[in-house]
Amino acid sequence: MGKEPSPEPLLPLTGPILNEMLLKHGMSGSIPPVDQSKLLDNDIDPVFQRSNWVLGVDENNVTCDIDGPLFKVDAASEAEMDILWKMLIPSFRLATKLIRHENLQEFWVKSVEAYKEQIPKQYAALSPKDVACEYLDLLASRTTFMFGIGNEPNIVASTWNSNTGLRISVMRTMGAMGAMKAEFMKSYGETQRELPAYPVIGLNLKHARLLLLAHQKKLARDQRLKLNFHIAIALCHELAHAFHNLCRLSGDKERRVFGNDSVTEEAGYSWEIFALGGVISQYRYSESASLYIGPMSVLKQPMDRRHIFFVPLEWILRLFLNSTWDNFEESKQNGFLNFRPLSSDKEHPVLELEGWNSAGGTKKHYILKEHGEVVEEYEETIRPRRTS
Ligand SMILES: [Zn+2]
Repeated sequence: MGKEPSPEPLLPLTGPILNEMLLKHGMSGSIPPVDQSKLLDNDIDPVFQRSNWVLGVDENNVTCDIDGPLFKVDAASEAEMDILWKMLIPSFRLATKLIRHENLQEFWVKSVEAYKEQIPKQYAALSPKDVACEYLDLLASRTTFMFGIGNEPNIVASTWNSNTGLRISVMRTMGAMGAMKAEFMKSYGETQRELPAYPVIGLNLKHARLLLLAHQKKLARDQRLKLNFHIAIALCHELAHAFHNLCRLSGDKERRVFGNDSVTEEAGYSWEIFALGGVISQYRYSESASLYIGPMSVLKQPMDRRHIFFVPLEWILRLFLNSTWDNFEESKQNGFLNFRPLSSDKEHPVLELEGWNSAGGTKKHYILKEHGEVVEEYEETIRPRRTS
């Protein structure tokens, strides 16, 4: 048997008109300059404090396929974690706004109310809103963050048990995580799911590599913006899981996920839909240097992978501005705080890509629409999936 051909990574984007349209609508390319003084400068939620970040299991030789080792020491160190943590600060600031803003508390409050009978006695006299606040504070003292948990073939979202990908996973466990090995954590995650909530949130190790590239000033501004945004949403998504786990302390199998129409029973997606009006991902992520070159895309529902909407870079940038948050109601009305104007059925979405498998599953067919008008149709041959 000959050697298997190594699968080519997907191009970040395909379809000549698609590329043109993404540039035209500011969904890829450069971003307008911003005065530093206008960027978010809020205190970060204590959950993100440096002492909650520990060295994980896979940080040896933090490296990048293209550039080789980024740190010139073999083993990961606290000094390296310091650098990664500092690079995360813009994401922490945005995530803090998204989690703690007065006008975005409904998700937490409704989650508390859904598990009312499980509220511990010491909080019984408090209003659901105050209990939600107590739970968020509890997360700050109980949550551990780390990079890299086990086998991580992909950077996009999926859950801990999936073998197709892992953005971040939440597991409930007790004790310090630093010395734990991936295999142990896997089995621990399987068997101890119903313990009281001491969440461990693991960011895919690829995030660390990208943060290090940013640290070395090897990412363009728009790439860095998308990375900061993507990580902020990922952190909130996983904290929504952690919060949900805290609410169902008894280990109740039944899930009562806020706003969920039982499509996924997925607390993280529910939070994304609550806060932003859709589920965000990086379009056409690949292993190669194309990281964060492509646009961010939105799914209205996590299960609807057929319809993709693209997000203008300026829309993302605006989330990182103080003015957007200082004028919350106005920003919400203007569509600065949710994806609805980008994906609305009534006003045609700015740019929608519809894609489905055809020709016996060997080809993928695409239709690109600008404000509801078809501007391009094309096909791609489906390439074999990279396995690892
Ligand atoms: Zn999730």
